[in-house]
Amino acid sequence: MSENTLYMGVDIGSASSKCVILDDALKIISHAVISAGTGTSGPRRAVDTALEAAETGIERLSCIIATGYGRNTYEHAAESVSELSCHAKGAVWLMPGVRTVIDIGGQDAKALSVDTNGKMKNFAMNDKCAAGTGRFLDVMARVLELSVDMLAEYDEKADGIVPVSSTCAVFAESEVISHLAKNVPVPNLIAGIHQSAAARAASLMKRIGVTEPVLMTGGVANNRGVVRALEKNLGIKVSTSPYSQIAGAIGAALFAHEKTVSGNL
Ligand code: ADP
Repeated sequence: MSENTLYMGVDIGSASSKCVILDDALKIISHAVISAGTGTSGPRRAVDTALEAAETGIERLSCIIATGYGRNTYEHAAESVSELSCHAKGAVWLMPGVRTVIDIGGQDAKALSVDTNGKMKNFAMNDKCAAGTGRFLDVMARVLELSVDMLAEYDEKADGIVPVSSTCAVFAESEVISHLAKNVPVPNLIAGIHQSAAARAASLMKRIGVTEPVLMTGGVANNRGVVRALEKNLGIKVSTSPYSQIAGAIGAALFAHEKTVSGNL
Protein backbone atom coordinates (compact mmCIF):
# COMPACT_ATOMS: atom_id res chain seq x y z
CA MET A 1 0.00 0.00 0.00
CA SER A 2 1.34 3.42 -0.99
CA GLU A 3 2.03 5.88 1.86
CA ASN A 4 2.08 8.76 -0.62
CA THR A 5 -0.67 11.28 -1.22
CA LEU A 6 -2.87 9.89 -3.97
CA TYR A 7 -4.95 11.51 -6.70
CA MET A 8 -7.64 9.90 -8.84
CA GLY A 9 -8.96 10.65 -12.31
CA VAL A 10 -12.15 8.96 -13.49
CA ASP A 11 -13.11 9.14 -17.17
CA ILE A 12 -16.72 8.05 -17.62
CA GLY A 13 -17.17 7.55 -21.35
CA SER A 14 -20.02 6.39 -23.55
CA ALA A 15 -18.39 2.99 -24.16
CA SER A 16 -16.04 2.46 -21.23
CA SER A 17 -15.01 3.72 -17.78
CA LYS A 18 -11.40 4.45 -16.99
CA CYS A 19 -9.72 5.16 -13.67
CA VAL A 20 -6.15 6.23 -12.85
CA ILE A 21 -4.45 6.71 -9.47
CA LEU A 22 -1.32 8.90 -9.38
CA ASP A 23 1.04 9.57 -6.50
CA ASP A 24 2.81 12.83 -5.52
CA ALA A 25 5.57 12.14 -8.03
CA LEU A 26 2.85 11.87 -10.73
CA LYS A 27 3.64 8.20 -11.18
CA ILE A 28 0.79 5.86 -12.17
CA ILE A 29 0.11 3.67 -9.13
CA SER A 30 -2.75 1.78 -10.77
CA HIS A 31 -5.29 2.06 -13.56
CA ALA A 32 -8.36 0.24 -14.81
CA VAL A 33 -10.47 0.13 -17.96
CA ILE A 34 -13.94 -1.40 -17.83
CA SER A 35 -15.87 -1.84 -21.08
CA ALA A 36 -19.08 -0.31 -19.73
CA GLY A 37 -19.68 3.41 -19.75
CA THR A 38 -21.98 6.01 -18.25
CA GLY A 39 -25.22 4.80 -16.68
CA THR A 40 -23.81 1.32 -15.98
CA SER A 41 -21.82 -0.29 -13.15
CA GLY A 42 -18.68 0.53 -15.21
CA PRO A 43 -17.58 3.67 -13.29
CA ARG A 44 -17.88 1.98 -9.90
CA ARG A 45 -16.09 -1.14 -11.12
CA ALA A 46 -13.27 0.90 -12.69
CA VAL A 47 -12.76 2.81 -9.42
CA ASP A 48 -12.91 -0.38 -7.29
CA THR A 49 -10.47 -2.20 -9.59
CA ALA A 50 -7.96 0.66 -9.49
CA LEU A 51 -8.28 1.00 -5.69
CA GLU A 52 -7.79 -2.72 -5.23
CA ALA A 53 -4.72 -2.78 -7.48
CA ALA A 54 -3.28 0.15 -5.47
CA GLU A 55 -4.18 -1.67 -2.23
CA THR A 56 -5.87 1.43 -0.90
CA GLY A 57 -9.33 2.81 -0.11
CA ILE A 58 -11.24 5.78 -1.46
CA GLU A 59 -10.77 7.64 1.88
CA ARG A 60 -7.00 7.70 1.22
CA LEU A 61 -7.40 9.79 -1.95
CA SER A 62 -6.66 13.50 -1.66
CA CYS A 63 -8.79 14.49 -4.60
CA ILE A 64 -10.92 12.86 -7.29
CA ILE A 65 -11.70 14.61 -10.58
CA ALA A 66 -14.20 13.18 -13.07
CA THR A 67 -14.27 13.72 -16.82
CA GLY A 68 -15.91 12.19 -19.88
CA TYR A 69 -19.44 12.12 -21.20
CA GLY A 70 -20.85 10.97 -17.82
CA ARG A 71 -18.56 13.15 -15.68
CA ASN A 72 -21.40 14.82 -13.79
CA THR A 73 -22.78 11.49 -12.57
CA TYR A 74 -19.87 10.50 -10.31
CA GLU A 75 -20.83 11.42 -6.76
CA HIS A 76 -17.37 11.09 -5.17
CA ALA A 77 -15.69 13.59 -7.50
CA ALA A 78 -14.67 16.94 -6.04
CA GLU A 79 -15.16 18.50 -9.46
CA SER A 80 -15.64 17.60 -13.09
CA VAL A 81 -13.41 18.88 -15.88
CA SER A 82 -14.16 18.85 -19.63
CA GLU A 83 -12.95 15.95 -21.75
CA LEU A 84 -11.04 18.30 -24.04
CA SER A 85 -8.99 19.78 -21.20
CA CYS A 86 -8.31 16.35 -19.68
CA HIS A 87 -7.34 14.74 -22.99
CA ALA A 88 -5.00 17.60 -23.83
CA LYS A 89 -3.38 17.41 -20.39
CA GLY A 90 -3.11 13.61 -20.45
CA ALA A 91 -1.69 13.63 -24.00
CA VAL A 92 1.03 16.17 -23.10
CA TRP A 93 1.94 14.05 -20.06
CA LEU A 94 2.13 10.90 -22.21
CA MET A 95 4.11 12.61 -24.96
CA PRO A 96 5.81 15.86 -23.97
CA GLY A 97 6.15 18.07 -27.04
CA VAL A 98 3.05 16.63 -28.75
CA ARG A 99 1.45 19.19 -31.12
CA THR A 100 -1.61 17.37 -32.47
CA VAL A 101 -3.83 14.88 -30.64
CA ILE A 102 -6.48 12.75 -32.28
CA ASP A 103 -8.78 11.15 -29.72
CA ILE A 104 -11.22 8.54 -31.02
CA GLY A 105 -13.58 7.17 -28.41
CA GLY A 106 -16.79 5.17 -28.44
CA GLN A 107 -19.12 7.90 -29.56
CA ASP A 108 -17.07 10.86 -30.74
CA ALA A 109 -13.76 11.92 -32.22
CA LYS A 110 -11.78 15.03 -31.32
CA ALA A 111 -8.73 16.62 -32.88
CA LEU A 112 -6.75 18.99 -30.64
CA SER A 113 -3.83 21.22 -31.42
CA VAL A 114 -1.37 21.95 -28.63
CA ASP A 115 1.11 24.83 -28.51
CA THR A 116 4.79 24.55 -27.63
CA ASN A 117 3.91 25.25 -23.96
CA GLY A 118 1.61 22.22 -23.85
CA LYS A 119 -1.60 24.32 -23.84
CA MET A 120 -4.57 23.44 -26.05
CA LYS A 121 -4.87 25.99 -28.87
CA ASN A 122 -7.75 24.73 -30.96
CA PHE A 123 -10.01 21.72 -31.44
CA ALA A 124 -12.48 20.14 -33.84
CA MET A 125 -15.03 17.56 -32.83
CA ASN A 126 -17.38 15.03 -34.40
CA ASP A 127 -20.05 14.13 -31.91
CA LYS A 128 -22.98 14.23 -34.30
CA CYS A 129 -22.63 10.89 -36.06
CA ALA A 130 -21.01 7.50 -35.51
CA ALA A 131 -18.88 7.62 -38.67
CA GLY A 132 -15.22 7.10 -37.83
CA THR A 133 -15.86 6.54 -34.11
CA GLY A 134 -15.46 3.42 -32.00
CA ARG A 135 -19.17 2.79 -32.47
CA PHE A 136 -18.66 2.52 -36.24
CA LEU A 137 -15.93 -0.09 -35.68
CA ASP A 138 -17.98 -1.95 -33.04
CA VAL A 139 -20.94 -2.19 -35.46
CA MET A 140 -18.68 -3.45 -38.27
CA ALA A 141 -17.05 -6.02 -35.98
CA ARG A 142 -20.49 -7.29 -34.98
CA VAL A 143 -21.56 -7.70 -38.61
CA LEU A 144 -18.32 -9.63 -39.25
CA GLU A 145 -18.88 -11.74 -36.10
CA LEU A 146 -15.53 -10.65 -34.70
CA SER A 147 -14.56 -8.92 -31.48
CA VAL A 148 -13.30 -5.38 -32.03
CA ASP A 149 -9.83 -6.28 -30.74
CA MET A 150 -9.41 -8.80 -33.60
CA LEU A 151 -9.92 -6.26 -36.40
CA ALA A 152 -6.24 -5.20 -36.54
CA GLU A 153 -5.06 -8.81 -36.75
CA TYR A 154 -7.29 -9.42 -39.80
CA ASP A 155 -6.22 -6.12 -41.37
CA GLU A 156 -2.59 -7.33 -41.24
CA LYS A 157 -3.52 -10.22 -43.54
CA ALA A 158 -5.07 -7.95 -46.21
CA ASP A 159 -3.55 -8.12 -49.68
CA GLY A 160 -5.79 -5.37 -51.05
CA ILE A 161 -8.47 -2.94 -49.93
CA VAL A 162 -12.21 -3.21 -50.48
CA PRO A 163 -13.23 0.45 -50.19
CA VAL A 164 -16.16 1.28 -47.93
CA SER A 165 -17.45 4.49 -49.45
CA SER A 166 -20.54 5.27 -47.30
CA THR A 167 -19.62 7.72 -44.59
CA CYS A 168 -22.80 7.11 -42.58
CA ALA A 169 -22.37 4.14 -40.21
CA VAL A 170 -25.86 2.85 -41.04
CA PHE A 171 -25.23 2.86 -44.81
CA ALA A 172 -21.70 1.54 -44.32
CA GLU A 173 -23.17 -1.43 -42.42
CA SER A 174 -25.41 -2.26 -45.43
CA GLU A 175 -22.42 -1.79 -47.73
CA VAL A 176 -20.32 -4.23 -45.68
CA ILE A 177 -23.16 -6.76 -45.70
CA SER A 178 -23.43 -6.50 -49.50
CA HIS A 179 -19.64 -7.00 -49.84
CA LEU A 180 -19.90 -10.08 -47.61
CA ALA A 181 -22.67 -11.41 -49.86
CA LYS A 182 -20.17 -11.17 -52.74
CA ASN A 183 -17.61 -13.17 -50.75
CA VAL A 184 -14.90 -10.50 -50.75
CA PRO A 185 -11.87 -11.41 -48.57
CA VAL A 186 -12.69 -10.34 -45.01
CA PRO A 187 -9.18 -8.92 -44.27
CA ASN A 188 -9.45 -6.65 -47.34
CA LEU A 189 -12.91 -5.53 -46.25
CA ILE A 190 -11.60 -4.75 -42.75
CA ALA A 191 -8.74 -2.76 -44.31
CA GLY A 192 -11.44 -0.76 -46.17
CA ILE A 193 -13.37 -0.19 -42.92
CA HIS A 194 -10.18 1.07 -41.23
CA GLN A 195 -9.40 3.29 -44.21
CA SER A 196 -12.87 4.82 -43.94
CA ALA A 197 -12.47 5.50 -40.19
CA ALA A 198 -8.99 6.96 -40.79
CA ALA A 199 -10.30 9.26 -43.55
CA ARG A 200 -12.84 10.73 -41.12
CA ALA A 201 -10.15 11.25 -38.49
CA ALA A 202 -7.78 12.82 -41.02
CA SER A 203 -10.38 15.31 -42.23
CA LEU A 204 -11.14 16.31 -38.61
CA MET A 205 -7.42 16.82 -37.99
CA LYS A 206 -6.97 18.87 -41.15
CA ARG A 207 -9.65 21.29 -39.88
CA ILE A 208 -7.26 22.38 -37.10
CA GLY A 209 -4.02 21.85 -39.07
CA VAL A 210 -1.74 18.88 -38.50
CA THR A 211 1.60 19.61 -36.82
CA GLU A 212 3.93 16.79 -35.80
CA PRO A 213 4.43 15.05 -33.44
CA VAL A 214 0.98 13.47 -33.45
CA LEU A 215 -0.44 11.26 -30.69
CA MET A 216 -3.58 9.17 -30.96
CA THR A 217 -5.59 8.67 -27.76
CA GLY A 218 -8.90 6.99 -26.93
CA GLY A 219 -9.83 3.33 -27.19
CA VAL A 220 -9.51 3.20 -30.98
CA ALA A 221 -5.76 3.81 -30.58
CA ASN A 222 -5.68 0.13 -29.53
CA ASN A 223 -6.58 -0.74 -33.13
CA ARG A 224 -3.26 -0.81 -35.03
CA GLY A 225 -5.18 -1.09 -38.32
CA VAL A 226 -6.77 2.34 -37.87
CA VAL A 227 -3.46 3.85 -36.72
CA ARG A 228 -1.64 2.51 -39.81
CA ALA A 229 -4.44 3.69 -42.13
CA LEU A 230 -4.26 7.16 -40.56
CA GLU A 231 -0.47 7.27 -41.02
CA LYS A 232 -0.93 6.30 -44.66
CA ASN A 233 -3.63 8.93 -45.20
CA LEU A 234 -1.60 11.75 -43.60
CA GLY A 235 1.83 10.55 -44.73
CA ILE A 236 3.28 11.09 -41.23
CA LYS A 237 3.93 9.07 -38.06
CA VAL A 238 1.03 8.74 -35.64
CA SER A 239 2.25 7.63 -32.20
CA THR A 240 0.23 5.77 -29.61
CA SER A 241 0.92 4.85 -26.01
CA PRO A 242 -0.02 1.74 -24.03
CA TYR A 243 -1.93 4.34 -21.94
CA SER A 244 -3.73 5.96 -24.92
CA GLN A 245 -7.17 4.80 -23.77
CA ILE A 246 -6.66 6.28 -20.30
CA ALA A 247 -5.29 9.65 -21.49
CA GLY A 248 -8.44 11.48 -20.29
CA ALA A 249 -8.32 9.78 -16.88
CA ILE A 250 -4.61 10.66 -16.56
CA GLY A 251 -5.47 14.28 -17.37
CA ALA A 252 -8.21 14.26 -14.72
CA ALA A 253 -5.80 12.82 -12.11
CA LEU A 254 -3.24 15.52 -13.03
CA PHE A 255 -5.94 18.17 -12.47
CA ALA A 256 -6.70 16.54 -9.09
CA HIS A 257 -3.02 16.91 -8.18
CA GLU A 258 -2.81 20.50 -9.48
CA LYS A 259 -5.92 21.59 -7.65
CA THR A 260 -4.78 20.01 -4.37
CA VAL A 261 -1.28 21.50 -4.54
CA SER A 262 -2.58 24.96 -5.45
CA GLY A 263 -5.32 24.78 -2.79
CA ASN A 264 -7.74 25.60 -5.56
CA LEU A 265 -10.47 23.12 -4.71
P1 ADP B 1 -15.33 6.35 -24.51
O1 ADP B 1 -14.32 7.16 -23.73
O2 ADP B 1 -16.14 7.19 -25.45
O3 ADP B 1 -16.16 5.49 -23.65
P2 ADP B 1 -13.03 4.82 -25.43
O4 ADP B 1 -12.03 5.90 -25.64
O5 ADP B 1 -12.82 3.92 -24.26
O6 ADP B 1 -14.50 5.39 -25.47
O7 ADP B 1 -13.05 3.95 -26.77
C1 ADP B 1 -13.97 2.90 -26.94
C2 ADP B 1 -13.76 2.31 -28.31
O8 ADP B 1 -12.42 1.84 -28.43
C3 ADP B 1 -14.62 1.08 -28.54
O9 ADP B 1 -15.83 1.49 -29.14
C4 ADP B 1 -13.77 0.21 -29.45
O10 ADP B 1 -14.11 0.44 -30.81
C5 ADP B 1 -12.36 0.71 -29.24
N1 ADP B 1 -11.49 -0.26 -28.56
C6 ADP B 1 -11.35 -0.42 -27.22
N2 ADP B 1 -10.48 -1.42 -26.94
C7 ADP B 1 -10.04 -1.88 -28.13
C8 ADP B 1 -9.11 -2.90 -28.53
N3 ADP B 1 -8.45 -3.66 -27.64
N4 ADP B 1 -8.92 -3.11 -29.85
C9 ADP B 1 -9.56 -2.35 -30.76
N5 ADP B 1 -10.45 -1.38 -30.46
C10 ADP B 1 -10.68 -1.14 -29.17
